[in-house]
Amino acid sequence: MSVDLVVQDCTIVTPAGRAEDAGLAVNDGKIIAIGKSSRLPDANQVLDAKNQLLVPGIIDSHIHNREPGLEYKEDWESATRAAAAGGVTTVVGMPNTDPVIDHPEHLNLKLERGEQGAHVDFQSYAVVTSENLDQIPALDEAGVLGYKIFLGSTVGDVPPPNDGEIIQAMEAIRKTGKRLGFHEENGEIIDHYTEQYKSENKTDPIHHAHSRPVIAEKEAVERMITFANETGAKIHMFHVSSGSAAEAVADGKDSGVDVTAETCPHYLWFTEDVLQEKGNIARVQPPIRDDEEQARLWDALESGVIDCITTDHAPHTDEEKGVEDPFADTWESISGFVGLETEVPSLLTFVDQGRISVEDWVYYHSTRPAEVWGMYPQKGSLQVGSDADFTIVDPDQEWTLEDREELHSKSRVTPFEGENFTGKATTTVVRGEIIYNDGKMVGESGYGTRVNVN
Ligand SMILES: [Zn+2]
Repeated sequence: MSVDLVVQDCTIVTPAGRAEDAGLAVNDGKIIAIGKSSRLPDANQVLDAKNQLLVPGIIDSHIHNREPGLEYKEDWESATRAAAAGGVTTVVGMPNTDPVIDHPEHLNLKLERGEQGAHVDFQSYAVVTSENLDQIPALDEAGVLGYKIFLGSTVGDVPPPNDGEIIQAMEAIRKTGKRLGFHEENGEIIDHYTEQYKSENKTDPIHHAHSRPVIAEKEAVERMITFANETGAKIHMFHVSSGSAAEAVADGKDSGVDVTAETCPHYLWFTEDVLQEKGNIARVQPPIRDDEEQARLWDALESGVIDCITTDHAPHTDEEKGVEDPFADTWESISGFVGLETEVPSLLTFVDQGRISVEDWVYYHSTRPAEVWGMYPQKGSLQVGSDADFTIVDPDQEWTLEDREELHSKSRVTPFEGENFTGKATTTVVRGEIIYNDGKMVGESGYGTRVNVN
C-alpha cells in the first residue's frame, strides 16, 4: 500500500533539534511517519528536498485579512495566497473588519468567507469593546481563537473600553480559558502628542513615530499585567516594538502572570532611521524604534521573553498610504504594511547571520504560537497524528525583493522592498496538500479551513 505523500532527503528541524537525511510520510492529511529517508513507506507522490530544511508549518497569528467589508485592501483569498507564497500554513485574522468581529454572527460570517476563499488554514480573534462585554461567552461557544482589545485609537477606529470594562472583560475571558491580547499603547499619551505635533506643524514621518513614545507602550503593558495579576486572566501583548515594553513583559512573567508576547520582523530588521529613508511606507503602530530600544528588544528575544514572531500584515491601498510621495504630510498617511512574504526570509536571514538558531526560529514562528493560542499539537508540530502542515525552505538562497510586484497580496506596500535576504520558502504544504511549490501557486482557493479550537 502506498501513502499519499513522502518528503525525503532533507534536514528536519523542530525546536528540539534537527535530523539529517530525514523525511516524513503523510496520509489523509496527517503525519504518519517521520525519520530516516530510507525507512519511509512508498508514496503516490515523492518530493525530494535535498539541501533544504523542512520545518513545522509557519503560523502567523497576527494578520489583517480585511474581509469582511474592506476587500478593496485585501481579502481572504489574496492574504492567504501571499501566506502560501511566503511559507505560512496558518493565519489568524484581526477583528477590525467591517463589521467588526464583536458578535458570534460576525465571527461566523468571517470564518464562512474564509472557507470560501482561503488557501491556508485560518482562525480569527474577536474584539472586546464597551458595547459587547456580554458577548464574551457566546463568542467562546462559537469557537473564537482568542480576544483582542485596542487600548488606543487605531486603524478602523474601534473605541477602547475603559479600565473598569477591561477588568470585567478579563474576568469573563478567564472563565472561557482563552487568551486576551492587546494593542498595547496608552491612547491618552498618544492623543496628547499627536495633537501637539499637529499644532506645531510637525508633519514628517518621524513625527508620527515620536507621537507614540515608548512610555505609551510600556505603561500599557504594565497596566494590563497589573489587571491580569488581579483577575487571573491569560493575556498577550501583540506587536511588542521596544526593549522597554519587552522588559515589562519579562517582569510580568517573573511575577507569575500568564503573559505572552510577540514581536514582528520590522522591529528587528529596521531602526527608526528607515523613516528618513522610506518615509510613510514604514509608518506603523506601534512605530519602529531607535537602535538602543531595538538592541534591548533583541536581548529580550534571545532570553526567551518574546514568545512569538508575527507580521501584523496590514494591507492598504497605495492612495491611503501615500506611496506617490512617501515624505508628504505623515498625518495624511495610514499605518501598516504587508509582511506575509517577507517574514520567513527575514527570519532565515537572521539565522544566516547567527543572530538566532534555526531551532529557535521554528519555536517562535510555529510551535509557540500554536501553544499560546490553543492550536497545539494539531498545528505547530511534526508529531505523528498532527496535521501535515510544513514549510520547506532553502536556507542558502540569496535574493533581493527587487520589485514589489512579485508579491501575491492585493496591497504591495512594504518597507522590505529593495532589501536583501538569505533564505526563502520553496514549498508550502497544508494538511498534506502541496499548495505552493517552486515559485508557483498550486493549491486552490477555498482549500483552507478554520482551525477548531473548542
Ligand atoms: Zn495589527
